[in-house]
Parts: sequence; structure tokens; C-alpha cells
Amino acid sequence: MAEVLVYCGNQKCGVALNESPDTPVEKRQPCPKCGALLREFDLRVSDEVNVKSFIDIKKKSTRCSTLLDVKRWHNTPLLS
Ligand SMILES: [Zn+2]
Repeated sequence: MAEVLVYCGNQKCGVALNESPDTPVEKRQPCPKCGALLREFDLRVSDEVNVKSFIDIKKKSTRCSTLLDVKRWHNTPLLS
């Protein structure tokens, strides 16, 4: 099972948010603590098989869409 945890993207805040990672930017609620709309996503893989296949994919190809998605989540400036 993979689980995505959502945190406030403000580095001085970083509070855990009860928000779906699929929530579009325009529908996000401002962070209750600091009001930021930035988000940080943390992919947690708890199933051993998934962990292994994830590592295998990482070794085999950097073009894996999952890895690209993770990179994009962390790199995309969410406020324009
Ligand atoms: Zn915050």
C-alpha cells in the first residue's frame, strides 16, 4: 500500500494537513496555521513488495512516471 501524506509547504511551518494530494491548487484551503497554499507531499510505501518494485523501477529507468510525479510534486512552485 502506498500512502501520500500532505504537509504545509511553508518550510517554517510544515504542519500535517488533512487534505487529499489530488486537490487542485485552486481548491486548496490555506494552511490553518500560516495560511500558505504551498504543499509538500510525502510518499509512504508500507508494503514490502511495493518498496522492492519501486526501487527496481528507480534503478531501471529515470523516466518512470511515478518518479517524475514525485519530482514534480517537490519542485513545482505552487504559487504563481
Ligand atoms: Zn503552514
